Amino acid sequence: MTEDSKEKREEARKAVGLLIRVKYTEVDQFVDHFATNISAGGIFIQSRKTYPVGTTLRFEIRLKSGEAVLRGKGQVVWLREAVPASDKPVVPGMGVRFQQLDDDSKKIVKRMLKVRRQGTAAERSKVKGSDGGLDLGMDMDIQAPVEDRGPSIEVSPELHAEQVDPSALDAGIEVTEDPSVTKARKAKEKADSVGKIIGIDLGTTNSCCAVVRNDRPQIIPSRKGYRTIPSIVAYDDKGKFKVGHAAKGQLAIRPEYTVYGSKRLIGRPFHSNTVRQIKDRFHYHIVEGPKKECAVEIAERVFSLQQVASFILAEIRAVAEEFLGAEVTRAVVTVPAYYNENQRQAVRQAGVLAGLRVERIVNEPTAAALAFGHNKSLDQRALIYDLGGGTFDASVMELTENVYEVRATGGDTFLGGVDFDNQLTDYLLAEFCTKVGVVPKVDRPAMQRLLEAAEQAKCALSEKNETIVRLPFFVAIDNTPKDLEVRVTRELLEELVQAMVERTMAVSLQVVKEAGLSPKQIDNVLLVGGQSRMPLVWSKIEEVFGRKPNASVHPDEAVAIGAALLADSLKRIDSVVLIDVLPMSIGIGVPGGAFLVVSEKGTSLPATRTYTISTFRKDQTLIDLLIFQGEHDRILDNEYLGTLRISGIPPGPKGSTLVELTFHLDQECMLVISAVDRTRNESLDATLAQLDTDETIRKKLRIPLEEAPSHEVGYPAPSPPSDENPVKKKRLGLLQRLFGRGSKKKKK
Ligand code: AMP
Repeated sequence: MTEDSKEKREEARKAVGLLIRVKYTEVDQFVDHFATNISAGGIFIQSRKTYPVGTTLRFEIRLKSGEAVLRGKGQVVWLREAVPASDKPVVPGMGVRFQQLDDDSKKIVKRMLKVRRQGTAAERSKVKGSDGGLDLGMDMDIQAPVEDRGPSIEVSPELHAEQVDPSALDAGIEVTEDPSVTKARKAKEKADSVGKIIGIDLGTTNSCCAVVRNDRPQIIPSRKGYRTIPSIVAYDDKGKFKVGHAAKGQLAIRPEYTVYGSKRLIGRPFHSNTVRQIKDRFHYHIVEGPKKECAVEIAERVFSLQQVASFILAEIRAVAEEFLGAEVTRAVVTVPAYYNENQRQAVRQAGVLAGLRVERIVNEPTAAALAFGHNKSLDQRALIYDLGGGTFDASVMELTENVYEVRATGGDTFLGGVDFDNQLTDYLLAEFCTKVGVVPKVDRPAMQRLLEAAEQAKCALSEKNETIVRLPFFVAIDNTPKDLEVRVTRELLEELVQAMVERTMAVSLQVVKEAGLSPKQIDNVLLVGGQSRMPLVWSKIEEVFGRKPNASVHPDEAVAIGAALLADSLKRIDSVVLIDVLPMSIGIGVPGGAFLVVSEKGTSLPATRTYTISTFRKDQTLIDLLIFQGEHDRILDNEYLGTLRISGIPPGPKGSTLVELTFHLDQECMLVISAVDRTRNESLDATLAQLDTDETIRKKLRIPLEEAPSHEVGYPAPSPPSDENPVKKKRLGLLQRLFGRGSKKKKK
């Protein structure tokens, strides 16, 4: 155990006393309004200051008059981060499991539970946003408050609960659960945990894990009690690897040893267009691996992206084992809908390296839809709008009872919250430069501070109309430290990111069109991804689709919860039916560089296509076919998947052997290609591997070196080509011009 985790555990063992004052004057009023924070098992305490999971709390809740209404002891079992949100704020605080309650408190809790069953005062008055979706508490014994209730605790905004000496709250507390009952409950939980398949959302920015226990999906909190963990792996100055929050902490100081956003690189050939386009955006060193795949170099050692992902998965697995008290060896893992065969395969391999058998790979939008549809009898068409930290995905799905069918899918692999942060960072810098009258030198730590401040301001502006970004001693000009202080309004932020939100709408409309529908035929727009909390996103969706979006499952948790639900359903015969489509066309490169489509985008999966070729040289014993994926006519604009090498062809005159190729795409979009010598009716060896480089691809397909890709690789863009695209144009902002972000990093 590290010193850090020892300290955390020590800290968690100490009891903390909390005195909570509420604004209500009457007990009845308290019971009616505060019931949202109570369940049979515990209480949700709103507070910006939280204590680590495991901390014992002695708490007392007092009315305005000072009368104590709830008094007891409990243990912190989960934390909710203080994430500002739009119409539906995420209330920060702690889920506390009751350990002891005095008799009067027990009676009050009983009354509150009755109120909950009948609907609380807030629910009865039908406040905004309660659209019949899942309530936030679906995954816990101790339920978080549903989002649409106003703050019920009248305390300072900084700290809802005041810390007091725990012994001051000791009086009159008695044990509620007899030790034999506790033992039996724990034994049952343990028995239920054995052989569990966990659901993992392996995200670009954050990852999240969930499991179904007692028929309820539950989020498994991280070691530090957070419900998601940053998808970051860091190599520290002591030569140890760290994962999650601990790794994020060193991002600013050791960026070249801190691997983030690796989900964009996993399973891609080093020579692919995408890697070429994005590799200079990262501070860590991206290299070519032994199989020509993309890999990373940390402290002079080369790691595959599968290894990097396995560190994250191993951490998740360890946390899940601790949470469940049982060994975990199986998982359902989610991937973006646009992931190709190599990327899916790489995620499976990462699972194996982490000691996990990946039972199913499921697409993120499908998982999100599963979470939204849980315990509901659905018959609707939904648009899953997923705007995360790095990418935007949109999928139209038809949800009918237990059948979840993807009708069309699309997105932008280079559009996410980080682009919003960059726009605001650009603006803040420009304002600063104008104020100080020079363009100062900004070193890396200062730049990191500014980026973090911009992200925080962006999130704060989802909740309030204006905020001030303050960075004391931001930079030194002529040896004099200068502070940065810029006021930003929501209106201004919306202006800065307008083009990006518009682009998500254009992509969504395109996907709706590809599904053969009009916006009016979409019954529900389901929100996924942190950036979807922005009020502008909400209002645009309402404007375009004529209905409010649905965020009834927490946007950060929906995908993991869906994966856990799928995992749980695998053991049942009546499990859910998932029908998917091929997100991007798959085809072959032909001489001259044209792209010959074999399986078209939107083809329902599983799918099988056959294609026949003949030997084109005398005594040809080997054929190399270059496989690509994308929607452009030229292979240079599409993504190289690999080279299919067909060997064992008997020598003979040109055209003497006919080879029949079968492309089989399974339900999970895994591609298997087999080859048969049709002349002799014998099967041939066919292996798909990343054998070629940009140079050899051009040589084999006779493409002149001068010919360059004309599009960014990824989903076909419904908006203008890259240099006319307002989003891309804006990205080349002041920041980039001043600091050359995007220019090649030097190898350490
Ligand atoms: P995800 O990849 O789904 O974890 O989303 C992460 C992105 O969501 C980051 O860019 C965050 O800055 C952004 N985000 C999180 N909370 C908010 C919020 N309340 N308002 C706007 N953006 C947010």
